[in-house]
Amino acid sequence: MSKLFKSTETLRGVGKVKAEKYGKLGINSVYDLICHFPKKYFNFHCNVSVRDAVTDEYNCIRLKIVSKLPVYTTRNNLIICKAIATDGKEEITVMMFNNMYGFHYLRTGSEYYMYGKVTENLYGKTMTSPAYIPVDEIKHIQPQYRLTQGLTVNMVRADVKQAIDLMRNDEPFETLSENIRQKYGLRPLMWSLENIHFPDGMQAIEQAKKRLAFDELLRLQLGMLIMRRRSRKHTAFRMDKSTDISDFTESLPFELTEDQKKASAEIIADLCRDTPMNRLLQGDVGSGKTAVASIACYFATKNGIQSALMAPTEILAIQHYRTLTGFLEPFGVRVCLLTGSLTAKKKSQIRTGISAGEYDVIIGTHAIIQKDVEYKSLGLVITDEQHRFGVSQRTALAEKGDTPHKLVMSATPIPRTLALMIYGDLDISVIKQLPKGRKPVKTYAVTGKVRSRAFNYVRKYLDDGKQAYIVCPMIEDSESELFAVKSYAEQVTKSELKNYTVEILHGKMSAQEKESVMQRFHDGKTDVLICTTVVEVGVDVPNASVMVIENAERFGLSQIHQLRGRVGRGQSESSCILITDNTSEECINRMKIMSSSNDGFEISEQDLKLRGPGDFFGNAQHGLPPMKIADLSCNIQLMNDARQCATEIIADDPFLEKPYNNPLRMEVIRLFDKDIIG
Ligand code: ADP
Ligand code: MG
Repeated sequence: MSKLFKSTETLRGVGKVKAEKYGKLGINSVYDLICHFPKKYFNFHCNVSVRDAVTDEYNCIRLKIVSKLPVYTTRNNLIICKAIATDGKEEITVMMFNNMYGFHYLRTGSEYYMYGKVTENLYGKTMTSPAYIPVDEIKHIQPQYRLTQGLTVNMVRADVKQAIDLMRNDEPFETLSENIRQKYGLRPLMWSLENIHFPDGMQAIEQAKKRLAFDELLRLQLGMLIMRRRSRKHTAFRMDKSTDISDFTESLPFELTEDQKKASAEIIADLCRDTPMNRLLQGDVGSGKTAVASIACYFATKNGIQSALMAPTEILAIQHYRTLTGFLEPFGVRVCLLTGSLTAKKKSQIRTGISAGEYDVIIGTHAIIQKDVEYKSLGLVITDEQHRFGVSQRTALAEKGDTPHKLVMSATPIPRTLALMIYGDLDISVIKQLPKGRKPVKTYAVTGKVRSRAFNYVRKYLDDGKQAYIVCPMIEDSESELFAVKSYAEQVTKSELKNYTVEILHGKMSAQEKESVMQRFHDGKTDVLICTTVVEVGVDVPNASVMVIENAERFGLSQIHQLRGRVGRGQSESSCILITDNTSEECINRMKIMSSSNDGFEISEQDLKLRGPGDFFGNAQHGLPPMKIADLSCNIQLMNDARQCATEIIADDPFLEKPYNNPLRMEVIRLFDKDIIG
């Protein structure tokens, strides 16, 4: 095996203990260590004078030590080291806590670049716990790493240096040809790895980041394209094009929108091919994806095929069960619900029924993809709110039955460029149009100062027989000063909402508790539900018409849009009040977007413009493999380039089997679960 992929213990100075510490950071091999990129850089280059140092912020100042004061220990055993330093014009105090070692190396009369937080009081300015380097050391940029107990930046730096030397001298490799690098303006891999860790300047860091982020996006895209090709090689059950389902569609309690009709037709066309369907159905909250799913299930049932519908939470699974039973049972379709919280006996009964083919449509949480569930003739798998499922779960399901047709439904509309990147392995159907008569949710952004007016507004709805949600970011009080469900509920039940029934709902409650709370809210027994974002996904209570979101600055735009989708479901006017005390320009812009648009696609487009694609990649909800660098430093151009490049590579070598693509192949395997490429 190549030296690079051996344990970090093979490095000089790394023993068992240190290797374990690296292990905690997810670093196991020498190469992992090389890919442990700095989380930020101290730039000792951009130094300022003492006078210009911005207080309460980190500054870099070139300072000469004038004198070191005697070290002393406080009553609670804090060791305080102080020195007086000057930039040649003005003096500043340098202070360190419990750092005799660091203090010891500061020499009176010597000059250093010092980087630390500067504060000011009556006696002048102080820099606390600075990082420093002597001015005669040429490197001005010091990378900082994510660490763990017992590892210091200097240790990591030394070990990374050794690892990089080993790679450079023993087995440098390059994943991209000269041609590709030129076409997309990318530096060589070795150069980039050296410069991400030991940069000559800020520009070198940018170039290194660009190359490494490109690689990551490229691998992601290659993995997606390969999965897509691979699934095309399989065969699936081909359903009969002439199957008539008009009796069913005509029975639905509403007329399908054009977009719903189009999506249904696309899905049915897929089901009638012998390559497995791999389709994403994207549509805003309330756009009617469930109806489309029911059509697909009915079509499959009439072809003698079982369908499975998987939801990310039990609440949602139960809701789907109710909806689909209502639609499908009158047509003789046998629907069952399989979730984790059923009794063992009940579960085993249902499982037996599934394998005997007594059920046509199986609805549940991830419990339905466990090994112990056997299907008689599973041919269609639908996952709802797909973003909650990881790429690996997508594949796990595919292994059930003979490569079933797969439909994933997402209520997080995302711009097309991103959708192609994130769901590159899927075909996409979109429902843009909302059902007729749906009124937009009126959205207002206010500050906490007018909270009492917000409550007046909420009470008007309640007195009108409607229900309300109040969303808080936290479950319990914490140091963060963010609103928490529990204390908030205690507070308002004593004051603003004392004449109403209030219940709480959050992720730490058991599935059963959650279910009964939701049930009471659904039945109108509760007026107000104070909750975390657990209500985000798909819950449907048409009588709930007003929502308050506290600490609105904490939530992403798409997330807020999803949340407020909970109250736009009935016939009457509904409102959403966003409360935030954050007055930053970004926050104000975001609140403006929320109050002026009700179109999920437009909102995500704006979010992309405002914050760049990083957020989308960093967002665990998309179920992407974890990123090391692309989430922090990519832009739309780079994303499109990576996509383009991946397409070209795959056109030339569909499964990365050519010898020159081997390094790339290894990287793709490293990023995804091993079984994805096979
Ligand atoms: P989604 O899953 O996309 O968020 P649902 O399928 O739950 O949306 O639909 C939301 C609500 O709209 C449901 O109450 C559903 O019965 C209703 N609905 C769906 N399609 C239509 C339509 N074409 N016309 C009117 N109401 C519809
Ligand atoms: Mg839904």
